Amino acid sequence: MIRFENVFKKYERNGITTQALNNINLTIRKGDIYGIIGYSGAGKSTLVRLINFLEKPTKGNVIIQNQVLNQLSNSELRQVRRKIGMIFQHFNLLESKTVFENIAIPLILLKEKKQTIQKRVHELLAFVGLSEKANSYPKELSGGQKQRIGIARALANNPDILLCDEATSALDPQTTQDILDLIKKINERYQITVVLITHEMHVIEQICHKVAVMEKGEIIEHGNVLDVFGHP
Ligand code: ADP
Ligand code: ADP
Repeated sequence: MIRFENVFKKYERNGITTQALNNINLTIRKGDIYGIIGYSGAGKSTLVRLINFLEKPTKGNVIIQNQVLNQLSNSELRQVRRKIGMIFQHFNLLESKTVFENIAIPLILLKEKKQTIQKRVHELLAFVGLSEKANSYPKELSGGQKQRIGIARALANNPDILLCDEATSALDPQTTQDILDLIKKINERYQITVVLITHEMHVIEQICHKVAVMEKGEIIEHGNVLDVFGHP
């Protein structure tokens, strides 16, 4: 489903070169909850940005559902990206828009009919348990509620892949647990492949099937969570 083949990524800025990814080989199967763990600067966000095609590899192939990303036309790329949802540490909601409008954004971009959008947004709000917040603004919500809205927006297009970038790092332990439970439910119910990046081991241990440990742009270990971190 997601494959990295000998992927390198170099950033050049003000004459300074950073080797963010150094020969990454990785296979993430359909239906996996795959954790990527590592310290700040290890290359986790770069890896996720390559999956989302926000960045191109300097060398090597990123393959999503049998499509080699650097060989696609722009319209083909849009098709692939439409099937990828993403949630963020700081939620990235638009503060000037209501909860309903935030969730509707991906559907409006796809020029869906008003009626379709109404129905879908209300279904998604019910799914994340926040139907009563449709007309609230993000600033009126708790962190956990904001992340639920982020999740609803990410699911609006029925994605095949959900990317989670430190999605619980700004939340307290109980709220973290609730959000992880919701991600697990999404994975189980809709067979959505989840790629989750974090610097927190307990997040990986709670919901991931597989894990890759990153250090200085390389994957230094990968496999089943129990094999990599040891049995309790
Ligand atoms: P992580 O997500 O694990 O913290 P990143 O992928 O953000 O790691 O960063 C990996 C390395 O690439 C770091 O050294 C970082 O400073 C560098 N880097 C990330 N993004 C950019 C960028 N847009 N321009 C230049 N350097 C970058
Ligand atoms: P229930 O039977 O408990 O109501 P459903 O299976 O009908 O649950 O789905 C719950 C909600 O999730 C519905 O609003 C549905 O539209 C939405 N949904 C369906 N498919 C997906 C998907 N692939 N990704 C995200 N949400 C989805």
